[in-house]
Amino acid sequence: MTNPTDNPVGTITAIATTTAIATVTAIATVTAIADIARDEARLAWQRYQALYALLQSRNQETSTSDDRRLLDSVTVLGAEIAAILAVGVNTGIRKVTLAIEANERLPKTARLLRDGLLSDRAFCSIVLQCSAVTDADLIAAIDAEIAQSLREHGAISTSIADDTARRYVAEYDADGLRDKRRANTPGVTVANDVDQSTLTIATSPEDIALIDKANRARALQVCAHDSRTLGKRRADAFVATQLGTEFDCDCGRPDCAAKASAEQVDAQFARIVVHVIADAATLRGTSDKAAYLDGFGPIDAHHAREIADRPGTLVRTLDLAGLADRTAQAADPYRPTAACATAVRGLHGTCAVAGCSRPAWSCDLDHVTEYNHDAPAAGGATCPCNLQPKCRLHHLLKTFADGWLDDQITDADGTVWTETTTPSGYTVRARARNHWLLPELGLIPCRHGEPTAPGASDPTDQPERSRTRTEAKQAYRMRLRAQRRYRLACTAAANARAASLASDGEPPF
Ligand SMILES: [Zn+2]
Ligand SMILES: [Zn+2]
Ligand SMILES: [Zn+2]
Repeated sequence: MTNPTDNPVGTITAIATTTAIATVTAIATVTAIADIARDEARLAWQRYQALYALLQSRNQETSTSDDRRLLDSVTVLGAEIAAILAVGVNTGIRKVTLAIEANERLPKTARLLRDGLLSDRAFCSIVLQCSAVTDADLIAAIDAEIAQSLREHGAISTSIADDTARRYVAEYDADGLRDKRRANTPGVTVANDVDQSTLTIATSPEDIALIDKANRARALQVCAHDSRTLGKRRADAFVATQLGTEFDCDCGRPDCAAKASAEQVDAQFARIVVHVIADAATLRGTSDKAAYLDGFGPIDAHHAREIADRPGTLVRTLDLAGLADRTAQAADPYRPTAACATAVRGLHGTCAVAGCSRPAWSCDLDHVTEYNHDAPAAGGATCPCNLQPKCRLHHLLKTFADGWLDDQITDADGTVWTETTTPSGYTVRARARNHWLLPELGLIPCRHGEPTAPGASDPTDQPERSRTRTEAKQAYRMRLRAQRRYRLACTAAANARAASLASDGEPPF
């Protein structure tokens, strides 16, 4: 490095080098964190293998089948492991049971642990979703489907793992799920803690979704001066609804802006909607393809038909074939048509950022490449290829925080992929959560060109920021997206070549 005192230009060089080192350290550190998570998954796999081997050797030592004995081999081994790890006996038995699941019922899915692709927590969640499936052939088929789907998915959150298992159980064992649903005993339980009590209601996911939305809407009917947290307001609103008392803003101001009339409250509650996306064939009863309940996840075909038959349910047809010609509203091309918004929310299911499971209908729809209000044709299109749901936090991070870059890519097969690059430069890639539900959406032709000059994110949302700075940021993001896509195309081509040499079910990137 040049000595700054010898050469004035050297000062700049030194600063640039320092910045570059800082960036390299950050990416190395977050990569190490990601690697540790993969190692944890591998360790969980090793623990399951060791436990299973031990269990098998114990079973061989015991000559007779001991299924009916109180102290069977699972209990004895579970108690031993519990003592060794200083945990309760039930926890020890649970670890042994999971080892059996990983080796006998879900071996293909468990191999994702070995490969560092799935967290132990996500695996446990899959085990729970599959617990009611007893038929050996069915569980084998479901295991194979879950493993293949998740292996190709990219970043897998617990919620994605949950949804994937739920979907295949719904499709392979719809009758079993219906029987289980009918056998469920909805109820209300009360638990008393030291200084407060908890009330739990167990009922159908669609009723809970409706109650949750109604409660959330009521809790938001306060002015900006209300002193309570959202959680406290939700509890207060729920109690008031149950007791038939008023739920009011607590500001005590005579000019409180939250004084809504009874008609306004009624009008708001009439708009509380829970969305289900289902194939027309599923609703007709000619297909057992699963459907998707916003805020819950995949539901079986019987369940979708039961919801469609409920009084008050409105069934609307989503015309995907005609969508290409009307993705944006004619009067305001910044806004997607209702059909386009529904399709995009259905495809992603939740906020599109990896790991986030905020329901899509509670999210904003974001133009990935920014819309240009002054020259719409030059900006990011109002089209499914360029729209995705983002929760308020992730929308704010993208818009205002430095270093966040998002992208959405539709590959040659019509699969939609989302990418999030964090401020450290780490990129997380994942398939759109509900690609299985709307596989046609990515194949709809685009009626727009490539963006050449994306606009500001939304000038009204960021009053204190200078337009020049925002414009510079958008232009920079465009360059980064283009560079990333070029690198991805090269990697994909290299992978395709490698795959033709040795195909081993690797992810397509
Ligand atoms: Zn108020
Ligand atoms: Zn989010
Ligand atoms: Zn498009």
